[in-house]
Amino acid sequence: MTPEVDRTHPHDRPVAERVEELLAAGGPLPIVAVGHPVLRLGAEPFHGQLPPALLARFIEALRETMHAAPGVGLAAPQVGVPLRIAVVEDPAPVPEEVRLARGRVPQPFRVLVNPSYEAVGTGRAAFFEGCLSIPGWQAVVARHARVRLRALDEHGAAVDEEFSGWPARIVQHETDHLDGTLYLDRAEPRSLSSNEAVAARWAQPTPERAAAELGFTLPG
Ligand code: ZN
Repeated sequence: MTPEVDRTHPHDRPVAERVEELLAAGGPLPIVAVGHPVLRLGAEPFHGQLPPALLARFIEALRETMHAAPGVGLAAPQVGVPLRIAVVEDPAPVPEEVRLARGRVPQPFRVLVNPSYEAVGTGRAAFFEGCLSIPGWQAVVARHARVRLRALDEHGAAVDEEFSGWPARIVQHETDHLDGTLYLDRAEPRSLSSNEAVAARWAQPTPERAAAELGFTLPG
C-alpha cells in the first residue's frame, strides 16, 4: 500500500530556473537545514544544466555564502540546488598545536564539480566536525585519513588529487553531501555535543578526553 503523497520531486523543476530565482535575491543564500529532503536525495551530476554565466554566478554565491556563514565548505544541496557542485576554502586560523594534531593546513578556494573520492590506505582520523545544515552541534567522525579525489573544476578540467589532514576531511564531508549523506550518519552518536559544550570542554587538539568522558571509542 502506498499512501497518497505529493510526488513532486525537487529534481523535476528546471534547476536553472531555481538558481536564477535564488540569485535574484542577492547576498548570501539561505542555507537549508537538516530535515529537508534535498539534503538526502543525492544530487544530479552536473552536465551543463546551468549555462556558463549562470554557473559562474552560482559558484560566486556559494563562495559568498560559505564566507558569510562562516564555513570551510558548502555543497549545492545545502542551498536547495540538487547538483553535484561544492566549494571549499579553509584559511585555517588555528593554533599551531591544533594545526599539527589535525593536519589543518590552509586550503585555497576551489570548486568541485562531480566529485568522488576513494580511500588511500587504511588510516582513519577522528575529530569533532560540524555542518552548516546542522547548526549548533558537532560530533566526532572517523574518516579516511587520506583520499584520492576525482572531480572537475569550474572550467571542466579534470582534477585527480590526493588529500590528507583536514582538507581530506573537508572533501569527504562535501562530497558526502552530494550523495545525500550527512556527517551525523558517520558520527559517534555518544560524541554529539553542542557548540557550547565543545568550546567549554572539548577544545583539545584531539578528541581523546571527549571519548573517555562521553564513552565512545576512537579508531586505532
Ligand atoms: Zn555539511
